[in-house]
Amino acid sequence: MKIDIFGMFVDEIAQVIHPYGLPKYRALQIAKWMYQCGVYDFDNMTNLSKDHRALLMDNFVIHTVATQAVQQSSDGKTSKYLVSFHDGSAVETVLMRQPYGNSVCVSTQVGCAMGCVFCASTLNGVTRNLSGGEILAQVLYINRLLQQEQAAVNNIVIMGSGEPLANYDNVLKFIRLCHEEYSIHLSYRSITLSTSGLVPEMNQLAREGLPITLSISLHAPTNEIRSQLMPINNRYSLPEVMDAGDYYAEQTGRRVTYEYVLISDVNDKIEHAGQLAALMKGRLANVNLIPVNPVMERGLLRPDNKRIQQFEKILLDKKINVTVRREMGTDIRAACGQLRNNVVNNSPKAR
Ligand code: SAH
Repeated sequence: MKIDIFGMFVDEIAQVIHPYGLPKYRALQIAKWMYQCGVYDFDNMTNLSKDHRALLMDNFVIHTVATQAVQQSSDGKTSKYLVSFHDGSAVETVLMRQPYGNSVCVSTQVGCAMGCVFCASTLNGVTRNLSGGEILAQVLYINRLLQQEQAAVNNIVIMGSGEPLANYDNVLKFIRLCHEEYSIHLSYRSITLSTSGLVPEMNQLAREGLPITLSISLHAPTNEIRSQLMPINNRYSLPEVMDAGDYYAEQTGRRVTYEYVLISDVNDKIEHAGQLAALMKGRLANVNLIPVNPVMERGLLRPDNKRIQQFEKILLDKKINVTVRREMGTDIRAACGQLRNNVVNNSPKAR
């Protein structure tokens, strides 16, 4: 069995190549070929000797991603990729070209176990966790596409399919790999992690000392409504999740974002806006309102624009920091899991 070195830190590469007589500085060269140059064939790592290249080919392999499907939004700003790994499982990765830079949305699991009623990623449950390397491969894939137009990935949002904190170690490894100088050297502040509210892991993350942005999927102003939308709320209730948000803000000094998917007649009423404003009062927090991307399988609808503006205004009047998410990619069904579901449902071979 050849060892896959994609997703290893330099020290880990050094450790596995050491028995073959390759010194540590070779590990750094290999890391740069993979993570900076997009070279995944040892034979093309031209600053290594022919003998070393042959040794590497005999004993190691570099697994990355292959493209299965692509969708572009009509304005050309959002591109969605279905990418597959060496075992054939596939996830979605989205590139959003925004005025402040290029953002990539990565997936952390194949499918999702959380069961949120408005989310397409969870319709078939979770298949497996992605490794740190498999999450990084999504970013580097987009980065290579951008390099062709002299651009690069500027922000990462960990908001694709999966619950990142249910795959804690691999996601943390991914975040740290992105920050390495021999990789894309991204600042932690340019990385946002979104969670459905796994309280123990949120607290653990707060103690890591990484200044990444935490985004909490709140989606309801009361414990009761949250339980109807998100089964995880029966394990970690809304007040516990908000306590963990406060702890994160306290430990990191970072403003926490609360995501709130607006669903017609479910959580978009005037009284809900008032309740949400009361919850947010006095907190180091932003609210991000997200008109729901309709998921036909679930029969949940987006409120009309008037209702969305009304909801936003109630929060603004109460001096809450609030933004309505610019809807990118609605025309390509860019909500979590929707491209994958299309392909999976239409192709007997896809998984
Ligand atoms: N599991 C994590 C991250 C993945 S979901 C989490 O729950 O935060 C990323 C964000 O997309 C979450 O806020 C999620 O609630 C939201 N989302 C899921 N389905 C959506 C839909 N149909 N329309 C709009 N946002 C959706």
